[in-house]
Amino acid sequence: MSFYRIYRPQVLEEIDNQVVREQLLLFLAKAKKDLPHAFFLSGPKGTGKTTAARMIAKLFNCEKLGESGPCGTCNQCKSIAKCNNIDVLEIDAASNRGIDEIRELRQGIQLAPVSAPYKIYIIDEVHMLTSEAFNALLKTLEEPPAHAVFVLATTDPQKVLGTIQSRCQRIVFGRAQEEALLHALGRIVKKEKIKISEDALSLITKYADGSFRDAVKLLEQASFHKGVIDEEVVRHYLSASDENERVAFLASLANRNTKEALQGISAVVENGMDIRTFIFDCLRMMHRMLVDITLGKPCEGWTTQSLTDVIRRFSQAYGEMKTSPIPELPLELAVVEYGESRGGDNRKSDPVTTEKREVREGGIKHKEQKQPSEDSPASKNPPSSWMLTLEKLTEHWPDFIASAKPYNHSVAGVLRSSRPKGVSDGVVTIEAFYRFHQEKLSEAKTKDVLSQVLKKLFGEKVKVEIVLGKK
Ligand SMILES: [Zn+2]
Repeated sequence: MSFYRIYRPQVLEEIDNQVVREQLLLFLAKAKKDLPHAFFLSGPKGTGKTTAARMIAKLFNCEKLGESGPCGTCNQCKSIAKCNNIDVLEIDAASNRGIDEIRELRQGIQLAPVSAPYKIYIIDEVHMLTSEAFNALLKTLEEPPAHAVFVLATTDPQKVLGTIQSRCQRIVFGRAQEEALLHALGRIVKKEKIKISEDALSLITKYADGSFRDAVKLLEQASFHKGVIDEEVVRHYLSASDENERVAFLASLANRNTKEALQGISAVVENGMDIRTFIFDCLRMMHRMLVDITLGKPCEGWTTQSLTDVIRRFSQAYGEMKTSPIPELPLELAVVEYGESRGGDNRKSDPVTTEKREVREGGIKHKEQKQPSEDSPASKNPPSSWMLTLEKLTEHWPDFIASAKPYNHSVAGVLRSSRPKGVSDGVVTIEAFYRFHQEKLSEAKTKDVLSQVLKKLFGEKVKVEIVLGKK
């Protein structure tokens, strides 16, 4: 078992995030019946949401709840920690979209808990539920039986209906501050009797970038080192040579040299490096570059827009890898699609990509509908009005696809090989390049979803039309 799981905080005082710890402490002062019965935990991965969700379960069901919170040692606390408590149900909406689980939840929720006073439902990545499951959940939240407690957790709160959030007590998890990370590492260092220098700990917290999970993972790796762990040892585990590889890879992306970027990926695969780790590390690097740019420090070859574009595509690829039969494929697609996207100039792109791009642009009849390059003032300073334009839709096409995905995966897939064609008089025209794509997107239900997603993204109610274009 990993350090992260072994040392998951079991009692309130072990919770490393001070804000969350204090918020949970406040609940202790109240009688259980006066506590909120639905909680909404939001924040990035690895910031302690699952830990807090289980702590809330213990707050309700601990047999020896004391002034400092759950005891961590009674049967309830122990089985909750081991995830085998019969009255605490954990649902991972990300892995199966939750349809069956929410149905079961609705059927079983009226039954009294078996061994504890409360039945606790923890729904992780709640934004991934299908709209049917969402609606079912909403109905349940409207009139829950007195013995039911809901803890909803998500990394993407914006995708969760306001009507759900407003029924819950909200707890927001920020990226962990250095102090909190050191607090977490300190607990483990003490219990495992690890010899490590302060510099080394500080380097780990920097690398962890606000994630408890990453910090603890790195400490665990370094702990295999015999003798005192110093900065040098940690650096070794972070491996500087990999960093050069990433720098080169990102530089070829910045130059829109798709061929070179794809070669970079092949090299990573050939060297037997885990491709998910590679993307993760690239994202971490781009995150730092984005901060630099925002602070006015230039990053060669990048603009805020191109960087955020790549970050979005890579984040998506990272998510898709779990289910991809060929692990590097989503990343390769992201690279190719970025190379083909007309967001940036193509002064250094390879001839193949440029040619393809010209062909695609040739398909657009009206010149004024040509999508803006990154150098055009329109995209550098997006118009402040909320008027939906083709330009804007084109710029946010990847967001549109990402937002459609929770509603319907296959539609999102089809959208990816389609493109926005026109926006006028409240009608958005999408061009599909295969008849079956056109038919799929033209289904009334699908059009409805697309128009809802557009409304959500751009705040405008529009109709959707699908036309068949020539590839
Ligand atoms: Zn207990």
